[in-house]
Amino acid sequence: MPLATASSLPRIALVGTGGTIAGAGVAEAGAPSAAYRAAVVSAADLVAAVPGLGLLAELHAEQLLQIDSVDFTDALLLRLARRVAELCAQPDVDGVVVTHGTDTLEETAYFLHLTVPSAKPIVLTGAMRPGTALAADGPANLLQAVAVAAHPSSGGRGVLVVMNEDIHSARDVAKVHALHVNAFASPHGALGLVLEGAPRWYRAVTRPHTTHSQFDAGALDALPLVGVVTSHGNQRPEPYQAWAAAGARAIVHAGFGGGTVPQSLRPVFEGLRARGVHLVRASRVGAGPVIRNASFDDDALDSVVCDDQNPPRARLLAALALTRVSDAAALQQVFWTY
Ligand code: GLU
Repeated sequence: MPLATASSLPRIALVGTGGTIAGAGVAEAGAPSAAYRAAVVSAADLVAAVPGLGLLAELHAEQLLQIDSVDFTDALLLRLARRVAELCAQPDVDGVVVTHGTDTLEETAYFLHLTVPSAKPIVLTGAMRPGTALAADGPANLLQAVAVAAHPSSGGRGVLVVMNEDIHSARDVAKVHALHVNAFASPHGALGLVLEGAPRWYRAVTRPHTTHSQFDAGALDALPLVGVVTSHGNQRPEPYQAWAAAGARAIVHAGFGGGTVPQSLRPVFEGLRARGVHLVRASRVGAGPVIRNASFDDDALDSVVCDDQNPPRARLLAALALTRVSDAAALQQVFWTY
């Protein structure tokens, strides 16, 4: 449905999905800001609670989901991506803001970055504290997200994450603190920041996204199953075997350091590969590339390295890739490309 237009301000569609930004807490004085329920405040009420939003953009809020973001499934990701693509295709929408829980925000942002074929600004934001907390961060994050989505310089940069005055690329950003409001960081640095109500840019991503991505949510019904197994001392084969038994087409091995593999797992990996399960070597460290054929013979074991993608994003990229390719060389090429 077209959005009603009443002004010459940029027209921003706001899609609410829940999370702490839509959370409400315990009212008593002294209650910790962590004592709250996520996903209870509507997208329309979030907008109404932020004075000044109406000066930046004409907003149309819709409530697509109202969930804690830990409950996101691949089916919900696809639903959201299709809705965002639909909104971006409307001539009377200039940009989209998605409000989202912070726990899986980086995964959803990356999925949209790869599957929504639009150059219009798409910005995700959330909050580390509910609106009822003494120093709630949601209202400022929402205001800044809308300022970025409404700005003409924000298009064509891929999906953006605005948190705590920083503008991150969905390709790189990750939640790196469980509690602080400056919880998000990008290993190569943020793209820019929000300064006096407008974006100021310092970097751009070089890898393809949105209009140049080969993936399109509109063409996908479901994602192949891909699991992640994180390394720790005394690593055992059972989690890998369980993923294979569940029908996983690939397993992301979130290894130590440079994606290293304990000796005891090598025959396990060989066995899984012989059954057709792909192994994607990633790192549990959170930054830095995994180097092909270093410390592990990827050529001999027909495994793949994730380049510099963190394990949750490597899962999504592997799943998308496996909708189009099936051999390890082609899967590796997808990781070099994106
Ligand atoms: N687990 C909740 C979520 O991700 C709350 C965390 C948050 O939004 O900050 O939706």
